[in-house]
Amino acid sequence: MGVIPGPSDWFTGTVLIDTIVAPTEGVHISASSVHFTPGARTARHTHPHGQTIYVIEGIGLAQQEGGPIEVIRPGDRVTFAPGENHWHGAAPGRFMTHIAMVEVDEAGSAATWGEHVTDEQYAAVAAN
Ligand code: MN
Repeated sequence: MGVIPGPSDWFTGTVLIDTIVAPTEGVHISASSVHFTPGARTARHTHPHGQTIYVIEGIGLAQQEGGPIEVIRPGDRVTFAPGENHWHGAAPGRFMTHIAMVEVDEAGSAATWGEHVTDEQYAAVAAN
């Protein structure tokens, strides 16, 4: 428990993860408050049982594979279906904090991580 930096394999830019609920044996919920500094974002990833994020501060971006970029603001919730490839993070020049809620799988895994959103791809998002 406590605050840990988001690992660079999973995130681009500076991200701090403040654990709210950690899964334990027999309890599969995982909840955290994830603080993204301006421009920081997750790599593309999937969640075995899906995920809900709830924005509490700032302005962010979220994108499901093949879908439009969504601008997300305090009070917005976004639900990602199990196995749906997506990313989320701060908007350019803006902080963003969301509560992230997932159910881990039997192995305790909350996510499977893939490709980073490159600076070029992120800049293209910012231009639109
Ligand atoms: Mn996610």
